[in-house]
Amino acid sequence: MLEVMDRDALAEQARELTDDLATRAVRAVALTWVDNAGITRVKTVPRHRLPDAAAWGIGASPVFDVFCVDDSITTSRYIGGPMGDLRLHPDLDRLTVLAAQPGWAWAPVDRWTQEGEPYPACQRMFARRMVARLDDAGLQLKAAFEVEWFIGEGGDGGDGGDAPVPASAGPAYGMTRVVELSDYIRDLLDALDAQDVAVEQFHPEYAAGQLELSVAPTDPVAAADTVVLLRQTIRAVAARHGLRVSFAPVVAAGQVGNGAHLHFSAWNSDGNLFAGGDGPHGMTARGESILAGLLDRLPALVAVTAPSVTSYLRLVPQRWAGAFQCWGRENREAALRFVTGVTGARDTAANVEIKCCDPAANPYLAMGAVCAVVADAVDAGLRLPEEVVVDPAGLPEPDQPPRLPESLPAAIARLERDELLRAAMGEELFEAFLAVRRAEVELFAGREPQDVVAATRWAY
Ligand code: GLU
Ligand code: MG
Repeated sequence: MLEVMDRDALAEQARELTDDLATRAVRAVALTWVDNAGITRVKTVPRHRLPDAAAWGIGASPVFDVFCVDDSITTSRYIGGPMGDLRLHPDLDRLTVLAAQPGWAWAPVDRWTQEGEPYPACQRMFARRMVARLDDAGLQLKAAFEVEWFIGEGGDGGDGGDAPVPASAGPAYGMTRVVELSDYIRDLLDALDAQDVAVEQFHPEYAAGQLELSVAPTDPVAAADTVVLLRQTIRAVAARHGLRVSFAPVVAAGQVGNGAHLHFSAWNSDGNLFAGGDGPHGMTARGESILAGLLDRLPALVAVTAPSVTSYLRLVPQRWAGAFQCWGRENREAALRFVTGVTGARDTAANVEIKCCDPAANPYLAMGAVCAVVADAVDAGLRLPEEVVVDPAGLPEPDQPPRLPESLPAAIARLERDELLRAAMGEELFEAFLAVRRAEVELFAGREPQDVVAATRWAY
């Protein structure tokens, strides 16, 4: 699946799709990947070029792997500098006509070398490799990212710039927001429906101007693709309403931020490993081992799931962001919230929510890293520590579970030592990812939280 490319078959498939795009007045196709800074980057082709792009790819520099959130460019052990070129190959199975961008279609890409080999630092291929690793073990994950975003205006000016003005001043979870933003929300739901995105729920969130949407679980790579598609659709519909959107982990310093909670369940031929067993809350022994393995590795994993300097302004107690390294059934302050679902539906509903994940994370890297940890843990026979059934911040300090890393440098230090994730990602990707993390630490060193927030607010 990963190593062989049938160029003729791809061109033929693309020709058929191109005919269909023509009948739907599509002029151009946006081909996206997500870089190590968590930014979705794009190259576009006019419609008639799609078959050629599918068969031969389109060129892009590998230097994008060392771009930072402010578009400055760092370097890494294997990747960096002006040399080299890659081929971007659209995944035609994900080709989608964009409802809120008339004349446009979209597809995510895999990145290949000019020699027709998988590019070792391709984040999407990393996720695909890890899914294949699980497949080999007879395991499938069903996953979905929740999407939280801020919608409003203003907030320009970088350091010390004005705070953005929310599009609705209505209260948290308030019907006022749904009334005031009724047309926007309807247009968004229409667009997502036209794009076959299976929306499950929508609600106004806690922070000022914050909204949230959740979608049905899918295979891990599709879940990452979907979150990319969702974000650009949310942004495109907002633009048509004269509004701006931010997926930054923190939009206003000192306030609740945007999460990108990652839900997943793990399945083998007997069913969901998180239900129907003798372990805690009905987990099977293998389900428990997965959760225990994840819990143990969270301090390193957060460098991937909460990778920006602003991520650590969000990852603090009592924001439902999952700042403590603990687990608990329906505990919204635990980094791992275990969800059983309602009696009668637990076989399908039971899942785990990784709360210490935010939208600065590259969803392919987050998914791939989680799959790698799951593959490692599932048969390791690990047992969970005791569950935390209260707000950890309310416990006397000696009784509190450990905090996850409280800064990006602390998370980087944990990831650097994580041999499992290093080996899973491969040296090229791992080193480039770390180089971008370190460069972003440097970029914002000594700056006040509100300046960091203002500088990154509209980047994500
Ligand atoms: N906005 C919160 C966060 O930063 C999450 C709120 C919720 O639990 O949905 O993760
Ligand atoms: Mg939420």
